[in-house]
Amino acid sequence: MRPLIAGNWKMHGLPPSLAEAKAIAEGAETFKGRVDAMLCPPATLIAQMAWHIKGSPLTIGGQDCHPKASGAHTGDLSAEMLKDAGATAVIVGHSERRTDHGETDSLVRAKAEAARRAGLTAIVCIGETEAERDSGRTLGVCSGQLGGSVPDGDPADIVIAYEPVWAIGTGRTPSEADIAAVHAHIRARLVERFGEAGRAVRILYGGSMKPDNAAAILAIAEVNGGLVGGASLKAAHFLAIIGAAGR
Ligand code: PEP
Repeated sequence: MRPLIAGNWKMHGLPPSLAEAKAIAEGAETFKGRVDAMLCPPATLIAQMAWHIKGSPLTIGGQDCHPKASGAHTGDLSAEMLKDAGATAVIVGHSERRTDHGETDSLVRAKAEAARRAGLTAIVCIGETEAERDSGRTLGVCSGQLGGSVPDGDPADIVIAYEPVWAIGTGRTPSEADIAAVHAHIRARLVERFGEAGRAVRILYGGSMKPDNAAAILAIAEVNGGLVGGASLKAAHFLAIIGAAGR
């Protein structure tokens, strides 16, 4: 399956950062057809970024959406608005949203359903905290979040991102064996629930993926790409990761 490397800029980026996006779009040409590359900038940059990278293979995602298409929800953005601005995907249920905004699995599921309604791919994030890992609950937590956050129906527009919370932005990563075990578990749950269609769902790894560990992580069975935070902010770093996926 063709890998997806998605960059999550989080709350980073003003117009000068568009130069990085442009460089990433140009670099992504080399890997066209072998790696799908995506950037998820702050919503304020989506429309400008779409203009800057027009005609390139780089695609754009949002970082969150409201479950409703419109309404009295001050400060929120709908999936339809993200699509209108130029996004083709949206991250839902990132651990920072689950923690900072108390997002539950059922809310994340409603957001993934909203993405589907608008014609966007939903990148659904799951992953255990350090305490959950230390108490041997990693697989149970991931199954629970997967079951609760992924909508029913054809999962062709769903991507799963496995992101151990303790690995995000810390420089720490699980061992290759641990990543393999969790990804195999997620794949098994997807096939159990969706049958053959569950085999085609991409499962990304996220959490301190960098140029120097990307090739090893991306070579693990059932790792179908990466969700990259810090290392997606600089074109040189992000392109090195895209290159590792395109080997
Ligand atoms: C993320 O926020 O999705 C992420 C994986 O961040 P980082 O790569 O910085 O750990």
